[in-house]
Amino acid sequence: MLDTGKLDLSEIEGGNQFEHFTADFLSCLGYEILQRPGEGPDGGKDMIAARPALAHEQREQTLVLVSCKHYGRAVGIGDEENIVDRLYEHDCDAFLGVYSSHPSQALTHRFDRLRAPFRRRPAMEIDYFTGEEIKRRLLETADGERLIRQYLPLSHLGYLRATTESFVFERRPVIECHECKVDLLQKFEGTIVYKMTYDTIGAPNGHRLQDIIACCTAHQPRGLPAASIIRPIEQLIQPATFIQLIHQDMNFQALRPPFFSGIEVHRKWVHLVHSLFYFVARGRSQPVQPDGELLLKQPRVKYGL
Ligand SMILES: [Zn+2]
Repeated sequence: MLDTGKLDLSEIEGGNQFEHFTADFLSCLGYEILQRPGEGPDGGKDMIAARPALAHEQREQTLVLVSCKHYGRAVGIGDEENIVDRLYEHDCDAFLGVYSSHPSQALTHRFDRLRAPFRRRPAMEIDYFTGEEIKRRLLETADGERLIRQYLPLSHLGYLRATTESFVFERRPVIECHECKVDLLQKFEGTIVYKMTYDTIGAPNGHRLQDIIACCTAHQPRGLPAASIIRPIEQLIQPATFIQLIHQDMNFQALRPPFFSGIEVHRKWVHLVHSLFYFVARGRSQPVQPDGELLLKQPRVKYGL
């Protein structure tokens, strides 16, 4: 099962990188980043973002002062000074802490006090993301996988594993490198090479699939014919890419047969599709929009058919 324990935010190195991550993360949640840290005239470290209005809100958008903290410990009161001043200074409506750890108890109490109206000061909108909350959102957001891949590359393998294990077959399929026999499906590293020629002799002319070669990153074949296609394994286990592959091959076969140059390459093709299906046949929390769209536009145009 997929849980937040598979993700490790400490993979993000340093405060700068965490600020980039935060900007990207908030954009995925619908925020518009107006000012990145350090870009302001005062050289301050805060970020300013516009949050789209919630259903009950009067104003069109809320200007949010975002404070990023990437600590290996709780964020304390001393780390978040002058919250009210900073809000006034940047003319923001709300404060949002984005913490890869969590706020200390004292800081949580201060937030609670600021949220309550106090004599002549109105209630303030104060909110924060803890590391746990960030990770939970990453698993829920449609674009979360991209963020995980980009910012948490080590966690990404565990994520891929957890999201692709489907138990369709009794035994997990294996695709071995043609050279060193390492199983490419262990880490989803390596490529599938379609060794392909474009035959102009004989009728009808068209693409011929000469061989399907599975390669680890170290053993890419050299001197491939120009019509060859190289596809990363990691992409092929994406459901939309998988369907696209089958569409394309069927198009080649139907329009300008024979696509398969022989029974052996056809056997390899069946094995490839069978193996990939294991990882493709899995649940998704949300449909993937852009790929789905791509699928409906004729992908074969790209190959000049
Ligand atoms: Zn190899």
